[in-house]
Amino acid sequence: MNTLLNLPISSLNGVGKKRAALYSKLGLNDINSLLHHFPNRYINCSNPLKISQAIIGEKCCIKATILKSEKPYVKSRKMIIYTSHGADSDKNCVAIVFFNNIYAFKSLKIGHTYLFFGKIEGNIISKKIINPMIINPDESSLIPIYSLTSGLTSKMISTNIKQALNLIDGQEDCLPQKLIDKYGLIAFNDALKNIHFPQSEQHLNRAKQRLIFEELLYWQIGIQLIKQQNTIETTKKLTYLNLDSFLNNLKFELTNAQNNVINECISDCLKNVPMNRLIQGDVGCGKTVVAAALAFLFAKSKMQVAIMAPTDILARQHFKFFVKTLTPLGINVNILVGSLSSKEKSKVQNELEYGMIDVIIGTHSLFQEKTNFKNLGLIITDEQHRFGVEQRKKLAEKGNAPHKLVMSATPIPRTLALIIYGDLDISNIYELPAGRIPVKTVHIPSSKRSRAFSYIKNQLQKQRQAYIVCPAIDDSERNIASVVKYTQNLQQNIFKDYSVEMLHGKMTGSEKDILMQKFLNGQIDILVSTTVIEVGVDVPNATTIMIENAEFFGLSQLHQLRGRVGRGNIESLCILVSNATKPESQKRLKIMCDTNNGFEIAEEDLKIRGPGDFFGNKQHGLPNFKIANIIEDTKILNVCKKEAENILSNDPRLELKEHEKIKNNVLHLFSHDKYIL
Ligand code: ADP
Ligand code: MG
Repeated sequence: MNTLLNLPISSLNGVGKKRAALYSKLGLNDINSLLHHFPNRYINCSNPLKISQAIIGEKCCIKATILKSEKPYVKSRKMIIYTSHGADSDKNCVAIVFFNNIYAFKSLKIGHTYLFFGKIEGNIISKKIINPMIINPDESSLIPIYSLTSGLTSKMISTNIKQALNLIDGQEDCLPQKLIDKYGLIAFNDALKNIHFPQSEQHLNRAKQRLIFEELLYWQIGIQLIKQQNTIETTKKLTYLNLDSFLNNLKFELTNAQNNVINECISDCLKNVPMNRLIQGDVGCGKTVVAAALAFLFAKSKMQVAIMAPTDILARQHFKFFVKTLTPLGINVNILVGSLSSKEKSKVQNELEYGMIDVIIGTHSLFQEKTNFKNLGLIITDEQHRFGVEQRKKLAEKGNAPHKLVMSATPIPRTLALIIYGDLDISNIYELPAGRIPVKTVHIPSSKRSRAFSYIKNQLQKQRQAYIVCPAIDDSERNIASVVKYTQNLQQNIFKDYSVEMLHGKMTGSEKDILMQKFLNGQIDILVSTTVIEVGVDVPNATTIMIENAEFFGLSQLHQLRGRVGRGNIESLCILVSNATKPESQKRLKIMCDTNNGFEIAEEDLKIRGPGDFFGNKQHGLPNFKIANIIEDTKILNVCKKEAENILSNDPRLELKEHEKIKNNVLHLFSHDKYIL
């Protein structure tokens, strides 16, 4: 790694221990990270306002020549006010006021002209500019504003960055000249200079282009490196390919989409390299049965299958489904979850190790050190957005190059998926099983809640069931519906003739399990719950879901919750209760009412929340981009994908001298992922 860039920030003049600690708070420790702390906006000072034009109460940039300074005014022990007076070319005056900032005050020289950026106060006759940023008129006209921490100002950061830029002047570029020429990129050092101190808007744009290109290129290279690792050979090939007995034992016909995906997976599992495939499909499209079909073929091919579910509830639900569909076919299915006793666990682990279990379903505990397999052939991860890349890899290390299948119910548009999951092949299930009636969604204010209750009562009288979701468990915050209080209220009042129970994350696995089982059996009419029912839970007789404080949830999350109903062939309703007035919340709720398409919803959610929040950076191996935005910069992204392929096809492990800097930068970007090279 470049040694200059690795120097600590404290090696800059004027950065002592104290300031270095402040930088550290921002996650900035070396020169490189400081240089990559890009401004989050710029103040345009090319057209300063006349003092007469400056609007009271607003921030603006004015130009004034200093006329005189007042004696500091000691207001209290903690507050000294420093005031200078200046005038513009129209001879209009302004007071320049600093609170406790003697340095700024002293830096102003009588007779000199400066630009000031700050908030205007006072009145029409006597305007003041408060704690302004002082800008030299011959500095560039776009002034960088940085994200700060208390004790640091944009000005301090600018000064330090200027010095850092001088330090790296004359350094070789990190990208090969070929690429720079091909795409007309500006040099790295120029880009850094212009992102911090743009000479003009145009320079700024070119700087951004260059830096976005670089960041996305590194990312694509990283992803492709991960993919390369999957090209290890495997001996785990399917030998048994006949699904007849499995299909005969099913209560329904598979959809075309399900059949296609099963076939895609089968052909993957006949190859010399392990399958690494993602199945995307909307809630309720029937991903579990696809998993079961593959588990069947692997078990019949004398290999073990591990299925990882994100929650106990889901693991137990899958277990029941797999027992129902596979046990009659002579396949040994078992479960390994955290709530088992340690004796039970070690029994299951033993049986796994000796190959007595064919299909094991579990949560994280499946993957603790002690769990070993005799002949693990396939790993299936359900609702994979809940798991980190690391977790998936840990499991993959268990077997000897097993096949991997991940299933996600938060589908994203194909073009984007191809790029984001660059390390996976993708199958989409666009079709829902026949006979499904789309869930109707309405948004009501809380004043109409009693009407919603009447509707639910009506449904219960028809022997249907309902979910009510609250954001909180107990009454920690006012004005937020909580499961405990809500349940009590329903039990004591409006639904006292019905069975109302609550379910939340603080309960033990077996408590949750007992409740879910009762709900599934129809012994509970209304289940009041937190989002623990968000993923996967399958009770076809539940036809209403009412979501309190719906504005609290993300779009994809609401869609997941809604997916708990409409799973059979009875008409279902999703009631979003919200008094939110923010246009943003209104918009989200409207999207929910307007569409049932998970792909569309995910796309909107991505736009609203940005990729980082949508995926949860750490979980997904999606890097924390400094400047690129994978949604807005798709064009550059596509180019970078190709160029990354080019680079790696000539130099698969980035060993050439000309790729040395690229290699370092890729490793840096993927530093959370120690497996990359
Ligand atoms: P998801 O894709 O959301 O995980 P599930 O696998 O839980 O969906 O399936 C939803 C429901 O649809 C389950 O009750 C399942 O048994 C049922 N199902 C799956 N495939 C079909 C099909 N081809 N025809 C009818 N019902 C199906
Ligand atoms: Mg599911």
